[in-house]
Amino acid sequence: MKTKYIFVTGGVLSSLGKGLSSASLAALLENRGLKITLMKMDPYLNVDPGTMNPFQHGEVFVTEDGAETDLDLGHYERFTNVNLKRENSITAGQVYETVIAKERRGEFLGGTVQVIPHITDEIKERIKRVSKDKEVAIIEIGGTVGDIESLPFLEAIRQFRFDVGEENVCFIHLTLVPFMGTSGELKTKPTQHSVQKLREIGIQPDFLLCRTDRILPPDIRAKIALFCNLQADRVVTAKDVKHIYEVPLVYYEQGLDEKVCKRLGLKTKSRGVENWAKIVQTLTSPKHGPIEIGIVGKYVDLTESYKSVSEALVHGAIANHCQINLRYIDSEKLEKADNLDILKGLSGILVPGGFGNRGVEGKIKAIRYARENKIPYFGICIGLQLAIIEYARHVCGLSKATSREFSTTGEFVIDLMEDQRRLEKVGGSMRLGSYPCNLMPNSQASKVYGKNKIVERHRHRYEFNNHYKKILEEGGITFSGMNPDSGLVEMMEITKHPWFVTCQFHPEFKSKPFLPHPLFVGFVRAALQMSATKSKEGKTKSIPMKKKSPFRAEARKGLA
Ligand code: GLN
Repeated sequence: MKTKYIFVTGGVLSSLGKGLSSASLAALLENRGLKITLMKMDPYLNVDPGTMNPFQHGEVFVTEDGAETDLDLGHYERFTNVNLKRENSITAGQVYETVIAKERRGEFLGGTVQVIPHITDEIKERIKRVSKDKEVAIIEIGGTVGDIESLPFLEAIRQFRFDVGEENVCFIHLTLVPFMGTSGELKTKPTQHSVQKLREIGIQPDFLLCRTDRILPPDIRAKIALFCNLQADRVVTAKDVKHIYEVPLVYYEQGLDEKVCKRLGLKTKSRGVENWAKIVQTLTSPKHGPIEIGIVGKYVDLTESYKSVSEALVHGAIANHCQINLRYIDSEKLEKADNLDILKGLSGILVPGGFGNRGVEGKIKAIRYARENKIPYFGICIGLQLAIIEYARHVCGLSKATSREFSTTGEFVIDLMEDQRRLEKVGGSMRLGSYPCNLMPNSQASKVYGKNKIVERHRHRYEFNNHYKKILEEGGITFSGMNPDSGLVEMMEITKHPWFVTCQFHPEFKSKPFLPHPLFVGFVRAALQMSATKSKEGKTKSIPMKKKSPFRAEARKGLA
């Protein structure tokens, strides 16, 4: 099989939506029955984004095989049926690491090791590896054309066109065409300059995707085409949209997938985009809501850090035909606040994954509020760990309950496992990727999933300490999901609560608009029910926080 390659680059400025454009084109090509894959090449020197601060880079997306990757891989998986692996996300750091390791092993036989050809060869090799057995590979190059860092990648794809034949390669460039309010004009100069930069290094784009706030009129497209050396019908409007799931529709209407297939000599027929139209229809005219869901975390100033979580909530909303509004709540602010007013009016509270002890007490306050006021609560990863700590402290009388991540003393209900402590010294003690989990029959979790065996993705270091299992169970916690091999806790819930479900894994990574994750569907449904009951009853009175635990000395005895 001859693989066709589509390279997507970006110009003018970052954040124009290259990832979404690549994912949308991939969806349209998949709709044509093509066997596709996607790849992201990031020009930074980190080996992977696992060590990067989410404030800088946004979310770290975890693949089935446990790779910590760029968040664009999340878009790729959500928009298509592909299941990506470690090799689908590469960085300059990885490429250099491999080349330097080869050099140390003497594999270059005394030659001078250089960016061209050694680094570029390694990049090309990786593109080929990922694309094996695929009909189309869409490869996105991170960064913006003109950056020093991305040059080796651009050089590699320039060479690639010659290596595999130009009939098998298509270059797509995403640029910006801003509308200047002062002169009332659409401006094409930034696009012209960006394409000039690309052509300087030998890449002539086949298609331009122009990000604008309006449909480009024919004269503007003709002007861009003239200055950028391509046909006007290959200048495509990438219009701003309200919902990201409209992007495939915008491109389909302009025949982008058809034109790309023609350019690559692929004879295919589209099955249409009814499926996407339906999703957008539900988003624009939902039957229920709006309801408000609170996301309590410390990265709320960069909501990209919670991309998969917020998307999975949208999928849950689509499945429930309901409009949800997200309220991002800064856990540090909550920690310092002397009242809980910023949580008022929420129909559901979610604590997503997080690291470190900053803002942790704020999250615990939110969890306690949700538990005591019977507001649906969904805890993910640290959201499970903190729910356990909260319950241990305020219900089971373990006032010093904590996690080894936050403190050096106390009752470590969340702890490092014995084998991890050894690994800790050499690094690499994270539990990453897919692990199986058995659900307790008749638990909330098993009802929501509709089955008792699941597999979910992980990204964490600490675990629930089974030493405290009995005391917490006696206090009213149900450990509804367990890893069958290690006996580690995967899910915990509070039965005497309308919906208090938490998980050690990250279900958000597996949710898609056409395959919403059951936990998000269940959570949004519970929030919707809660808001319906609330509006029937009128405003609920806040239940004051309990001071004393009903359950103390006797329970503690069980620990001795
Ligand atoms: N910091 C916690 C741990 O490492 C939770 C991680 C997470 O929420 N992803 O176990």
